[in-house]
Amino acid sequence: MVETPSTSNFIRNIIVNDLKEGNVDSVVTRFPPEPNGYLHIGHAKSICLNFELAKEFKGRVHLRFDDTNPLKEDTEYVESIKEDVKWLGFDWDALYFASDYFEEMYARAVLLIKKGKAFVCDLNADEMREMRGTLTQPGKNSPYRDRSVEENLELFERMRNGEFGNGEKVLRAKIDMASPNINFRDPVIYRIAHATHHNTGDAWCIYPMYAFAHPIEDAIESVTHSICTLEFEDQRPFYDWVVAETEMASTPHQYEFARLNITNTVMSKRKLKQLVDEGVVDGWDDPRMPTISGLRRRGFTPESIRNFCREIGVTKSDSTVDSKYLDHFIREDLKLKAPRTMGILQPLKVVITNYPEGQVEWLDAEVNPEVPEMGMRQIPFSREIYIEQDDFMENPPAKYFRLFPGNEVRLKHAYFIKCNDFIKDENGNVTEIHCTYDVETKSGSGFTGRKVKGTIHWVEATHAVPAEFRLYEPLILDETEQEATEETTFLDRINPDSMVVEQGFIEPNLKDIQPHDKLQFFRHGYFNADSKYTKGGKIVFNLIVSLKSSFQLPKN
Ligand code: ATP
Ligand code: MG
Repeated sequence: MVETPSTSNFIRNIIVNDLKEGNVDSVVTRFPPEPNGYLHIGHAKSICLNFELAKEFKGRVHLRFDDTNPLKEDTEYVESIKEDVKWLGFDWDALYFASDYFEEMYARAVLLIKKGKAFVCDLNADEMREMRGTLTQPGKNSPYRDRSVEENLELFERMRNGEFGNGEKVLRAKIDMASPNINFRDPVIYRIAHATHHNTGDAWCIYPMYAFAHPIEDAIESVTHSICTLEFEDQRPFYDWVVAETEMASTPHQYEFARLNITNTVMSKRKLKQLVDEGVVDGWDDPRMPTISGLRRRGFTPESIRNFCREIGVTKSDSTVDSKYLDHFIREDLKLKAPRTMGILQPLKVVITNYPEGQVEWLDAEVNPEVPEMGMRQIPFSREIYIEQDDFMENPPAKYFRLFPGNEVRLKHAYFIKCNDFIKDENGNVTEIHCTYDVETKSGSGFTGRKVKGTIHWVEATHAVPAEFRLYEPLILDETEQEATEETTFLDRINPDSMVVEQGFIEPNLKDIQPHDKLQFFRHGYFNADSKYTKGGKIVFNLIVSLKSSFQLPKN
């Protein structure tokens, strides 16, 4: 598919101006995930922005793992993040781990202590919160604030040496407890955590806080434009304070943009992890997950995600994008790429009573009528075929143009058939339909004798290959309803119909289909061969997106 050209945005304008004014010689950006979960579509927005800006301005982009919290991080996440960024189509100029800078961060903290800009504090978290003040009231100084430089240096070293338990002491910046910006009220910059780190093992038992570590990481790497989401806007003054007071050689600047929110979607790693841990979904790559790995397994392409990220744009105001908007980009991408085929999701047998027994003919059908170069496929036709249960009604309503007693329809790529009779089981369910076909009406024969109003799809019964179809709806319901307690109630909004499984049939030419092969099933939509369950002769399809069509499978 043609990629959407990069559109202008306020961050790009800042870069253009910085280059023009000579504020920077070249652009260095970074994507800084914390390896505490799999990447999601929100991260894709940030990835596209950082990688594409660096590329456009011939700069550098770093993939940097912001691994300063040993309690939640894991190498499994490191590996999945690398894979997902590559799959999205991006290559980093350098790969870094914040944990590789622990020694330097420690040295910069010592420098702050020596300058009288940091102190060791013995208050616990509750006491600190109480003394922090509010938006309207100033905070109170810690009783430990006036410790001497010597005492602070000694205590900080003893913290490092493991002489204190978790939470017993912290290192705090010494700024201003009366500052209108709460982030300036002596924020914690180091804490004690006796935990094994995925990268540094047991080398450290004190870890820098994000707000202290991040600006130092950026400065060490000579990042010029440190792009993050809006919730860090109030942190920017402290970011600048850290860069200046720790006397870093390079001065990065932070710019904030609005994070991506999507309707019917939870997008925090913490919540996504909860869905995985509680078994609500089949892992981080469940096709209903908004993770990159879930979208990949569902059948979304890197191009569709990149184009989506460009089109939603980069702004400073929070908004929520309709989940259907992403569907538009995958339809556009697959329109010219995906072969067309026919599949039956809810089979109903049709016997064509005037077709010779034992005879099979092979009909020609285009692989993709919009792309003639994709050639033709052959599909068998015989006396027995499957159609969708939904394409027959004993007592149809007005304007039902599919099969019913006495009505004639076209079978796509084949003949007109007319329904003469049907069989029901003891429960009153229709189990078989009897039709006759008209040999004159063969598709492509130029037959103009009479017209029919309905065209339906079908699969020849004796050559049909069994396949499983997994149909999806949004995982989360009620996007309009505010989450009552923000963090806990989204599990109550899980859509019980988010996955419906059908056992059906596909054309025999698909018997060797491979995981990740994408197809358009006529009248149904675009499907992707599932990468986890398509194996050992079993074929499982994930619905990527339906066609913009009125055809809807009935709910089970
Ligand atoms: P989450 O809240 O989902 O756990 P996070 O912000 O904690 O995400 P990080 O690993 O810290 O996750 O994020 C890496 C980068 O991705 C950060 O620069 C962050 O701002 C950006 N990012 C995260 N979520 C979104 C989003 N929804 N839209 C745009 N950018 C995002
Ligand atoms: Mg985070």
